[in-house]
Amino acid sequence: MDDCIFCKIVKGDIPCYKVYEDDKYLGFLDIKPLNIGNSLLIPKDHHHWVYDVPNFGQYFEIAKKIALETKNIVNAEAVSFLTLGYEVPHAHIRIIPRFPNDLHTHGIDTNLIVNQSKEDFVEISAKIFNLLK
Ligand SMILES: [Zn+2]
Repeated sequence: MDDCIFCKIVKGDIPCYKVYEDDKYLGFLDIKPLNIGNSLLIPKDHHHWVYDVPNFGQYFEIAKKIALETKNIVNAEAVSFLTLGYEVPHAHIRIIPRFPNDLHTHGIDTNLIVNQSKEDFVEISAKIFNLLK
């Protein structure tokens, strides 16, 4: 889709901090992270809803791999997965590391964006990408 921001990231028209890539899926750090290390996993083909993505199970297995590596790298207590589908109409699984006292206590507050330095984006994405390639 021409005006879809995630399709533009897949095409390379918009840069991203990659954490995972294969022929079907692309994972990258969310530039508005809800916690340090927050990434998004999208199918390379445009599908609106997460349940429109072919091989739904495989899609979530990859999200799990990213989650477990991220958990170790950022020393998270746990990892939450969030799918809504209303913000960007291109399927994405939000992979959100959780920390004690991270203020998301009663769920995920999508307005609670944390500061993550450019160095952190570069370092965290490179570490996860290298472990999963
Ligand atoms: Zn798209």
